[in-house]
Formats: sequence, C-alpha cells, structure tokens
Amino acid sequence: MRKFLFIIAVLGSLVANAQEVICHRGYWDAEGSAQNSISSLVKADSIGAWGSEFDVWMTADGVLVVNHDEAYGGVLIETAKWKQLKNMRLKNGEKLPTLEQMLKCGKKLTTKLIVEMKPHNSKAQEQEAARKIVALVKKLKLEDRVEYITFSYQGMIWLKELAPQGTPVYYLNGELSPSKLAPLGMAGIDYNIGVMREHPQWIDEAHSLGMKVNVWTVNSDRDMQWCINYGVDFITTNAPERLQQLLAP
Ligand code: MG
Repeated sequence: MRKFLFIIAVLGSLVANAQEVICHRGYWDAEGSAQNSISSLVKADSIGAWGSEFDVWMTADGVLVVNHDEAYGGVLIETAKWKQLKNMRLKNGEKLPTLEQMLKCGKKLTTKLIVEMKPHNSKAQEQEAARKIVALVKKLKLEDRVEYITFSYQGMIWLKELAPQGTPVYYLNGELSPSKLAPLGMAGIDYNIGVMREHPQWIDEAHSLGMKVNVWTVNSDRDMQWCINYGVDFITTNAPERLQQLLAP
C-alpha cells in the first residue's frame, strides 16, 4: 500500500510539473523585438514557448489593434480612427499591428495565442470588440489555438458566451476565488504573482474544481521557483528563456 501511495505521489508530482511558459506581450526582450509586435510572437514561437500573450483594443471605427496601453503615440485607441494609427511604428520599426495581422502570423506558428481583450471605457464598444475578436478567430480557423484573458468582468462573460464551447477564458483581475469563477464556466484564474502569494490556497482550490492557474508577470528566479513549487499550470513571463532553464529537468 505504501509503495502504491508513493507511486501515486510521484505521478502526481510529474503531472504538477507539467508547467507551461507564456511570453508576456510576446518575447520582446530580445534582439530586434518589441512588446506586442509580430516579431515578439515569432520569437516566442522560435524558443518553443507554449503560448504568447498580446493585448487588444478596438478603434472607434472597429479595427482591432494590438497594443498594451490605451493610447499609442498620444492617440487614445478606442476613440481614434484607424487611419490615425496605421502608420505608427513600434520600437523595432514594425508598424503597429492589427489583430488580423497578428493572428495571420500566428497561424503559421504553433505557439498558443493568448488574446487579452482590454477593458474599454465604452462598454458597448468592448462588447463589439469581443464579438469582432471571436468572429475574426473563427474566420481564420484559429479557434483551437486561441485562449482569452481579460481584466473586465463583463468582458469575460461576453467572451465566454461568444466563443465556441470549451474555449478557455481566464479572468485577470484577481479579486474572485476560483469557486466564484467556476459557476461562470471560466477555465481558471490568471492572477498577478502578488495576489497568488497572498492566496496560495487558490491553486489547490482551482485544481480541485478542474480549473487551471496562470500567474503573471513572473520575472525573478524567486517568483519563478515559487510558481514551480506550487504547481501552477502556466507561468507568464518577460524572461521566457530563464524560466525554461529553471523548468528543464
Ligand atoms: Mg496583457
């Protein structure tokens, strides 16, 4: 019996160690790259990262744009027309990408596409953004390659309703326990490392509910090791190659 329990524990630890690396805003801390650029997605794929995350806004005229902040080059994206943004350049010289360009690039790669829909000031616009994002993913036949994340409570509800059944949707905002999210059909929690250090019990809680745990933005060796030791499922980082070293057997 004791031997049997030991084997179960070893198998359990092997399962717990199947942790995946997600590049935060792509792999941008690399030669020739930039945050949320096409290059950052290609570089994330080239190192074998499980996933690559990027942020999405919608312009007033309905173009889905990949950028972290609400404004780029002093132009507020959600109230701008696309023509005000389309010639803007990223730090590596690339043009500010649209979601369509990003997804079309992603289609040629194998890394998962972790699409963060940003909370818009106009909730009507955010709902339209959710509709357009899901429709574009469908049009490009990328439904099995995409997962959605958002800080917006209403946004997560819309994404869950709109995306095909089984599409993972994760909540980022950090205030809801896994048991609050489970009845909403969410795939799991995707919370800040500070939140998770305050609520480490949420990892077992999520797992017992069949949910996954993603933690961001995990950049120091100390935080990476904490996530590894606690058996979180996905670690989102700006230092993916360092994390890969720590995860290597
Ligand atoms: Mg993001």
